[in-house]
Amino acid sequence: MADQALTDEQRDAIHARYRAERDKRLRPDGNAQYLQPTGRFADLLEDPWSEPSERAPVREELDVVIIGAGFAGLATGARLAQSGVTDVRLVDSAGGVGGTWYWNRYPGAMCDTAAMVYLPLLEETGYLPTMKYTAAPEIHGHAERIAEHFGLLDRALFSTRVTDLRWDDGHHRWVVSTDRGDELHARFVAMGTGPLNRPKLPGIPGIDEFEGHTFHTSRWDYDYTGGGPDGSPMERLADRRVGIIGTGATAVQCIPMLARDAGELLVFQRTPSSIDVRANRPLDPEEFELGPGWQREWLVNFATLQTGQFAEVDLVEDGWTDIAQRIRDRVVAEVTAGGEFTPETIAKAFADSDDEKMEEIRARVDEIVSDPATAEALKPWYRQLCKRPCFHDESLDAYNRPNVHLVDTDGRGVERIDATGVWVGGVHYDLDCLVFASGFEVGTEYARRAGYETLGRDGVTLTERWSGGMQSLHGIHVHGFPNLFVVGMAQGANLISNVTHNLVESATTVALVVAHALEIGAEEVEVTQEAEREWVEGIERNPGSFMGNAECTPGYYNNEGQPLGREALLNVAGYPAGPVAFFSYIDRWRRSGDYEGLEFR
Ligand code: NDP
Repeated sequence: MADQALTDEQRDAIHARYRAERDKRLRPDGNAQYLQPTGRFADLLEDPWSEPSERAPVREELDVVIIGAGFAGLATGARLAQSGVTDVRLVDSAGGVGGTWYWNRYPGAMCDTAAMVYLPLLEETGYLPTMKYTAAPEIHGHAERIAEHFGLLDRALFSTRVTDLRWDDGHHRWVVSTDRGDELHARFVAMGTGPLNRPKLPGIPGIDEFEGHTFHTSRWDYDYTGGGPDGSPMERLADRRVGIIGTGATAVQCIPMLARDAGELLVFQRTPSSIDVRANRPLDPEEFELGPGWQREWLVNFATLQTGQFAEVDLVEDGWTDIAQRIRDRVVAEVTAGGEFTPETIAKAFADSDDEKMEEIRARVDEIVSDPATAEALKPWYRQLCKRPCFHDESLDAYNRPNVHLVDTDGRGVERIDATGVWVGGVHYDLDCLVFASGFEVGTEYARRAGYETLGRDGVTLTERWSGGMQSLHGIHVHGFPNLFVVGMAQGANLISNVTHNLVESATTVALVVAHALEIGAEEVEVTQEAEREWVEGIERNPGSFMGNAECTPGYYNNEGQPLGREALLNVAGYPAGPVAFFSYIDRWRRSGDYEGLEFR
């Protein structure tokens, strides 16, 4: 194994390199370096995938409005339907369901959390994924399947942007206003607006000046490139010089497709991604014994192993569970050899396993990429969880093609953009087309990311309420905002390796609370100030947060390298004892029937 050859000196040298690479990338402006899509980029917030149809404004009273028709909203609708609550409308600015999988149709898009655990409600809908990791069209299709299965489409309001959400205290209703003139008076509102939904652009001088064609990966312009989300050839790129800025999880997936189809591809890199083996393969339904409750079993198994705990089998068997089991086994070996089970032992096991894993990932670059200088530049020098780990079987190989050129900026980023192309290190690169794989807003104000403001009791906005960081019980209920539910992952399980697991659990809780309120005829349900305060205090004690690690190269996992103050911590942290403990805690909370912390009036 790679680590057997690692001496203490080598480890020290690796860590020194991590610090040096981080220092190159630290910027005083942190998150403020990114631009919102305005001016010539304003259409980035529009929907390229469907034309809104004409309809009359809707004015009605109803039980539940769900804002967002991605997996958070769909899971909530599904769980409500299962609880017999059907007076429900989904509202989404997109022209259909799917959320991130509606918007992101770039070539090569897929999920690298295994489909058997990533795709929600498989058992309920009777579907089995075709591949271990499924491509975006299949995931989008599954979102549509959930919506159809649970009857959520008929009353959905698509191509409809919520503009304002206001609590009417006198009538105990939320008033939901939209850009289509709708006014929905809802007893309850569930918000599933997603953590990464608003495209952002790099703050590169001259970005407005480029006169060639340009788009963001989340609004892929197939009219310009040809081809389609199914991976069919983008024949219109054959004689084009295409540049791509960004080498994160999105770019890792679309670079092989651009490499295949573009006349020339220039990849402008600030920080390389860590790209581990994916080993995707078709799934054969015959290979599994799936009895009732199977998906829950798989979910718990994956979450358990991925967070360093023990299970008899590894059902998913992938890169996520592999690294966690190595860390765990190292701790066990240390303790068995007479060491003590202390936070230091765990931290050392974590660091040693990480060194080993990252050495493997760097060695993989050398094995695949034939040009030594390119290979060197593609090696990630940071701990694996400083940035989103990537898993891909073809991405590195793309750099062996003669039409693909890596332009490494050595951590500084692209210098300047002008009418005809991009400048790096004083060299100008002519381009016909510039693709921004620059990601999505994280850590900016909630209302800015959601696209609307939420006014609770006494007109207090959620932005004001959360100005010092998120405040909630279970990441769902907010004091001063009765009958409102946040369907997300922060301040809940916060299992980043399988986002949808968090969402289905939140949805299950929301449906239970709504059904109970309706059953007992309560006009309002609200978390008490006391319960919210206690929960937030628990979150602040979160010892497991890896965010803000001093050796981390900047990125959205660590507040772009800026100190993780109380506000940022509250916005990203989860249950102190970790995801699996949260899932079993919330299960007990739901089963108890006490609704502890909530007040029904
Ligand atoms: P990211 O935010 O991860 O990546 C943005 C990229 O743009 C980074 O490489 C960043 O470099 C680069 N960048 C920003 N500014 C500049 C600049 N001035 N000059 C040069 N480069 C610049 O966005 P993604 O869309 O790739 O991914 C977002 C998230 O979406 C992922 O982290 C993941 O959670 C999810 N996702 C998951 C996928 C999956 O399941 N496989 C696939 C795609 C996305 P730097 O690193 O230096 O900041």
